[in-house]
Amino acid sequence: PYTGPTAEEILKKRKEFLSPSMFYFYKKPVNIVHGKMQYLFDEHGRRYLDALGGIATVCCGHCHPDVVKAIVNQTNNLQHSTILYLNHSIADFAEALASKLPGDLKVVFFTNSGTEANELAMMMARLYTGCHDIISLRNAYHGNAAGTMGATAQSNWKFNVVQSGIHHAVNPDPYRGQFGSDGEKYAKDVQDLIQYGTCGHVAAFISEAIQGVGGIVELASGYLPAVYTSIRKVGGLCIADEVQSGFARTGSHFWGFEAHGVVPDIVTMAKGIGNGIPLGAVVTTPKIAEVLTRRSYFNTFGGNPVCTAAGLAVLRVIEREKLQDNAHFVGSYLKERLNALKDKHEIIGDVRGRGLMLGVELVTDRQLKTPVKVEILQVMEQMKEMGVLIGKGGFYGNVFRITPPLCFTREDADFLVDVMDYAIAKL
Ligand code: PMP
Repeated sequence: PYTGPTAEEILKKRKEFLSPSMFYFYKKPVNIVHGKMQYLFDEHGRRYLDALGGIATVCCGHCHPDVVKAIVNQTNNLQHSTILYLNHSIADFAEALASKLPGDLKVVFFTNSGTEANELAMMMARLYTGCHDIISLRNAYHGNAAGTMGATAQSNWKFNVVQSGIHHAVNPDPYRGQFGSDGEKYAKDVQDLIQYGTCGHVAAFISEAIQGVGGIVELASGYLPAVYTSIRKVGGLCIADEVQSGFARTGSHFWGFEAHGVVPDIVTMAKGIGNGIPLGAVVTTPKIAEVLTRRSYFNTFGGNPVCTAAGLAVLRVIEREKLQDNAHFVGSYLKERLNALKDKHEIIGDVRGRGLMLGVELVTDRQLKTPVKVEILQVMEQMKEMGVLIGKGGFYGNVFRITPPLCFTREDADFLVDVMDYAIAKL
């Protein structure tokens, strides 16, 4: 049994010693002391179904034994920076990772986070093209350092950084966007931004395939192929931010961009890549990668032996346990059940997403799509009381985010939907 500090004691220390910016969703946050696959356990031994852990990186399942073993073995053997010496761990993982990407995408740079990966990707695009302008989407989240905060386009996550050379395009949002699910119509706005907002050339276009923080918004179909063509016509590179939608999460494909039939020039990833270990990566072509040889470039912990050993173990688990197929089958079933729930509850305005990256948007009026305010927190709190932890996001904070570890089962899906059904009915 757990004998450590209680939730109240931890809260007190947080208040005194940690940044006041740290937040939590629940009125009474849970003190999680143990994790096992798709379950989390609190200080009293209560079990919760984790329907959110995927966002916070866990893709194979909490404390997956193979990943833990790889980390422990490597830690016992060597943990160091990879700047100065050779070590097989970084090379083996880079090779395995490159094999998961299409075309000429085979040069890997390791980082410690998604923010770092996107900062590097944007810098490389600027160096490669000699241009400064970058187009990203409204409602995007790409990180919280200076450059990536500029590319992020939701006021909730932006501080007063100098936003240089970033243009935010109309979001191809099938639910709230003005052109519905007609991707090509939204793509015209990117052409307009290039024409009227730049010198006619750009460094890059960056986007998620499914916006995560933005509330599980799947880009309208036809959008990415049209935009990639426009961007390449003016010499720009196309960057796919796969921090959330990558690593088998969408089920139908290993990478989110694949569902759109495009091949990016640079792909960035983090979160699920290390099953909870701080790890990110940028993958690009040999030609683009050359730009970093103009000066010296390094990252002290990027690609260290422990993190890359974890990454390799994650890839093997995804393959051996067929987690991509599982994300597809369980995710499709879960989406079907959520859609049935939408027929039952007026408050559900939209159900969307792919695989085990699903969103449920709550509105007070289906016609006007008025976002709910407090109800979502009430439902979350009630679901927590019944043993299900779920996420929340979207610009208005009114979208449930369902991104569980990829080992989620049909029974878990049933439990989640039944609990959500009961919690909504109690409103
Ligand atoms: N890109 C996307 C799509 C993300 O969701 C996030 C994190 N929410 C990031 C980048 C930044 O990753 P990190 O928090 O690891 O810096």
